[in-house]
Amino acid sequence: MSPFEETEEFVRDVTSSIVAVTGGEATALHEPEFDGNEWNYVKECIDTNFVSSAGKYVDRFERELEAYTGARHAIAVSNGTSALHISLLLAGVGPGDEVLVPALTFVATANAVIYCGAEPHFVDSELDSLGIDPEKLRSYLESTTTLIAGQCRNRVSGKVIRAMVPMHTFGHPSKIRELLDLCMEFSITMVEDAAESLGSFYSNKHTGTFGLLGTLSFNGNKTITTGGGGAILTDDSNLARKAKHLTTTAKVPHKWRYIHDEVGYNYRLPNLNAALGCAQLENIESKISRKRALSELYQEKFNNLNGVSLIREPTGCRSNYWLQAILLNPQFISSRDQILERTNEIGISTRPAWDLLTTLKPYKDFPSMDMAQADELAKRVINLPSSPQLIKAKK
Ligand SMILES: *Cc1c(COP(=O)(O)O)cnc(C)c1O
Repeated sequence: MSPFEETEEFVRDVTSSIVAVTGGEATALHEPEFDGNEWNYVKECIDTNFVSSAGKYVDRFERELEAYTGARHAIAVSNGTSALHISLLLAGVGPGDEVLVPALTFVATANAVIYCGAEPHFVDSELDSLGIDPEKLRSYLESTTTLIAGQCRNRVSGKVIRAMVPMHTFGHPSKIRELLDLCMEFSITMVEDAAESLGSFYSNKHTGTFGLLGTLSFNGNKTITTGGGGAILTDDSNLARKAKHLTTTAKVPHKWRYIHDEVGYNYRLPNLNAALGCAQLENIESKISRKRALSELYQEKFNNLNGVSLIREPTGCRSNYWLQAILLNPQFISSRDQILERTNEIGISTRPAWDLLTTLKPYKDFPSMDMAQADELAKRVINLPSSPQLIKAKK
């Protein structure tokens, strides 16, 4: 076979493996699924006029998130980005600080750092978990930082590295214990971006509950959705109280007066959205078990195909399999765009991973370590249709 024919055959095989799972029809990358009490709860909000910042569903949603994740406190907010913004502020991140952020993440992770007046400092990911590489980061920090008065100082910029934001890529838990050890050792505060990993556990502990604070997103494409929404998780009661206060315009409770004791934010989650969240949470385990079954199905189809592997959950973890992904072998990197073309042409939504943040216009001039592995991942990953609806629900 000529190299051209070999590529052509590979593109055809990968495409037909995907079609074997999705069927021939148009398939979205990730669709919301409303198959429970969504309509009843939302209708109740409208019927009773409790559509906005007051109402029982916000409180109920928060308590149910606590029960599900095991976090002592959950604070519902307007989206995952605002959750990150407030969590970083509460972690003490401010002007003059640097925050360690993977280059392979959605742009919101870095945006939230900028909102605090701080700078992202980009770090590399590893190929097993797709999260920050703890070993590589350790040698990097050892050779580029100094601990001065209990603070980790970047010897090049002179700035304090205040926080680290690990992100659980596509729902797969990062090597969070090792990253936590690293944070302890270098006096860095951990804030976890668990936007993609609701329902993902690292040795039986929910992602987003390892750091001082963790954040969730309920955007329309996530495992469960509130239309738009997010949450802050923490075990610290004081931080939880502050998070609630800051995200609700810092209003001091009073029967009629408007007293605000600092500059707060209007990052509330409306009752209408929380109602949707309560209904979604009732069915989360059904959604996740079908997403896990979908991974099995893809595995069957990709098992015998050379040149590509399905990304599976790291050992010792339970992943929610938010976004299914395949990894092309290096010799097939040049076929990636053809596979994306071919599948999207027939209505099957596939996507590459994010462009590394270090390549984006607003982020190309910030401090960064060598990105060899994240760069590999950015070139070799393809996300596949991942909706739970692709597997029939067992009733
Ligand atoms: C979805 C997502 C966010 C932000 O969520 P929004 O609710 O859309 O603001 C943040 N980080 C990551 C990694 C995400 O995937």
